[in-house]
Amino acid sequence: MRIQLRPSLLKIRRQSVKWIIIHSTAEIYPQPAARIDNSIYQSHELFKGVLEDKSADINYHYVVEKIKDEYIPIVTRPLAYLCEWPDIDLNINNRAVHIALLGEYNFKIPEPRCYDILAYRLVNPLLKLFKLSASRIKLHSELSNDKENSCPGEYFEKDILISKVRRFVVK
Ligand SMILES: [Zn+2]
Repeated sequence: MRIQLRPSLLKIRRQSVKWIIIHSTAEIYPQPAARIDNSIYQSHELFKGVLEDKSADINYHYVVEKIKDEYIPIVTRPLAYLCEWPDIDLNINNRAVHIALLGEYNFKIPEPRCYDILAYRLVNPLLKLFKLSASRIKLHSELSNDKENSCPGEYFEKDILISKVRRFVVK
């Protein structure tokens, strides 16, 4: 499915990137496709949520999902615009890149390959591009002012992501 492209509704990024924030899509999109990542291309289903919310685009810069037997990062909001997360301090959010894994990780354990692709194709290039250390990677739950927030899920381990980041570091 397609949405109308309406960049005039998005906030333009004015400050340099300092934070990379990891999410999972089940938190804001109620579609079944946003809750369970299977091997079929599903990210387009998130646009149903965008239409329901009357928002301008998917509220993450990238979504990583499994298609056939591989994880694929998909650009879902151009980096030149901000995502809107009222539960995250504006000083952080105005300088953040938001990456979501498709699915829900309070019940499911992310596969090792998912961490590999996340680190190699997205997080490491972003760290290099914006001259950031791995300490700038945060989970949504670490930054949310909602104490109940567990995004991207209890089974997502930041330590595993950091170890993959070190393995694929761009020198
Ligand atoms: Zn989140």
